[in-house]
Amino acid sequence: MDKIQIKDIECFSNHGVLKEENVLGQKFLVTADLYVNTRKAGTSDSLEDSVDYAEVAHYINEIMGQRTCKLIESVAEIIATKILIRYKSLLGIKITIKKPWAPIMLPLETVSLSVERMWKKVYVSVGSNIGHREEHIQNAYKAIRNNEKCKNAYMSTIIETEPYGYTEQDDFLNGVICFETIYDPRELLDFLQDVEKQGGRTREIHWGPRTIDLDIIYYDDLIIQEEDLIIPHREAHIRDFVLRPMCDVAPFFKHPVFGKTMTELLAELEDKR
Ligand code: ATP
Ligand code: CA
Ligand code: CA
Repeated sequence: MDKIQIKDIECFSNHGVLKEENVLGQKFLVTADLYVNTRKAGTSDSLEDSVDYAEVAHYINEIMGQRTCKLIESVAEIIATKILIRYKSLLGIKITIKKPWAPIMLPLETVSLSVERMWKKVYVSVGSNIGHREEHIQNAYKAIRNNEKCKNAYMSTIIETEPYGYTEQDDFLNGVICFETIYDPRELLDFLQDVEKQGGRTREIHWGPRTIDLDIIYYDDLIIQEEDLIIPHREAHIRDFVLRPMCDVAPFFKHPVFGKTMTELLAELEDKR
């Protein structure tokens, strides 16, 4: 991956756990590694195709002075997030903050912290079988497109399917929304659950009727197994109404656990019928 590095920007600010640090302030050195694809700029020789590192450096200095945090962890997180949101052509960023004057009563060169944050590609399934189904789905899609922590969203063709599990209910509209996000998986789940709430989602019957259901199907090639969050979605490989839209947007994407493409998984499912 190509990288632009802005090394050791000197900023004077008041972050720290100690009161003295907040009052007196101290020197911080901030390094930003900007992960980019420089091929276009390298060919066109035009600044418009690259990231203006002078502007980024000044923006970092501005953020450093905007508010006082106790931890450099928070400062690094804020800088990484703000820069990724403002400069959409970045693939990711690494922020390193050094404290050369860290008050630990011993001679030292620096104390430093690095965080690396990348845009991750995710696939979220959408389903609706109450009321204006199309509108519920469009509203969820809009909420994702309007969120600054999400970019490059596109939606599969929407299909009509018969209910799954609990069959005494109306037919569903189903699809998959693909986008990139800087949310981590749990933050993404929280965001999607908020969108469900705004869409009037309630939970009465498991697999029962719903205005809108948003499931995280894949998060990059990550595998997570926690009590309330399983990725890939535990039934992603055996649901026709997930595999068909997945085949539409990413036929050669491989299931991270089973190592099979969406096309292969759909063919296997159809063979079993
Ligand atoms: P299913 O998950 O089998 O499609 P459902 O969508 O009807 O069923 P919900 O009532 O919407 O189930 O969700 C129940 C819980 O599933 C959520 O509260 C959430 O914590 C958990 N969950 C686990 N893994 C995921 C995931 N990958 N995406 C969304 N929710 C998940
Ligand atoms: Ca679901
Ligand atoms: Ca769900």
